[in-house]
Amino acid sequence: MKLKDPKEIIANAYDEGRKWLLEPEAKEICKSYNIPVPKYIIVHSEDDAIEAANKIGYPVVMKIISKDIIHKSDVGGVVVGIYNDDEVRRGYRNILKNIKNRLGRVSIEGFLVEEMARKSTEVIVGMTIDKQFGKIVMFGLGGIFVEVFKDVSFRMIPLEYDDAVNMIKEIKAYPILEGYRGTEPADINTLANIILNLSKIALDYDEIREIDLNPIFTYSNGALAVDARIILK
Ligand code: ADP
Ligand code: MG
Repeated sequence: MKLKDPKEIIANAYDEGRKWLLEPEAKEICKSYNIPVPKYIIVHSEDDAIEAANKIGYPVVMKIISKDIIHKSDVGGVVVGIYNDDEVRRGYRNILKNIKNRLGRVSIEGFLVEEMARKSTEVIVGMTIDKQFGKIVMFGLGGIFVEVFKDVSFRMIPLEYDDAVNMIKEIKAYPILEGYRGTEPADINTLANIILNLSKIALDYDEIREIDLNPIFTYSNGALAVDARIILK
């Protein structure tokens, strides 16, 4: 997992018989395309987790990195709100226990110790391949807005900056991103650039079938993709 170049990361996943990238691999690709992600360090022991947490600065989040686990929180593989060394130890052990209880023996590549991003309005940016239109990007607000209301917008790739801005503005929940009733307004320029940069990843790598940045925390100045998933063909 020390791979840096997107090409190498994808080739390595195929070599290992994987059709998807581990979260830190997907985030490494995001970083090389200027998509903002929280600071993180990969560790393999409790002591290293504590050292990493202190290096990043509290609070942190810990997550399992496993070739057998694609939806981490479904199996208790994510702990948020870790504020001190003791909580790092507890979080580490809890994740291991949860996974053992729910899945038995699985491959564990390590743990992600990550900067805890401040809570804010969550959005999702995704890419899929449509039978009719080819590669398309998707934008929506997180959680129920996508799942229940299907309040999402789509564009074909490639797209221009103005298309990305329009796609953000055309969802019904857009007023929330403008700072409805005192919520922090979202930095639309940053979100539009995330859409464009994600499209570039999809254009550059035909091996990719699907990308999901879910969730992205939005701020009045910037944004952070706290989770990234890349599925290969
Ligand atoms: P999953 O594989 O279950 O989708 P995520 O990485 O999305 O795992 O983590 C689950 C949830 O934990 C996220 O939806 C988000 O609410 C929270 N979370 C994850 N990473 C961070 C972070 N760095 N800072 C703050 N919250 C986070
Ligand atoms: Mg997620």
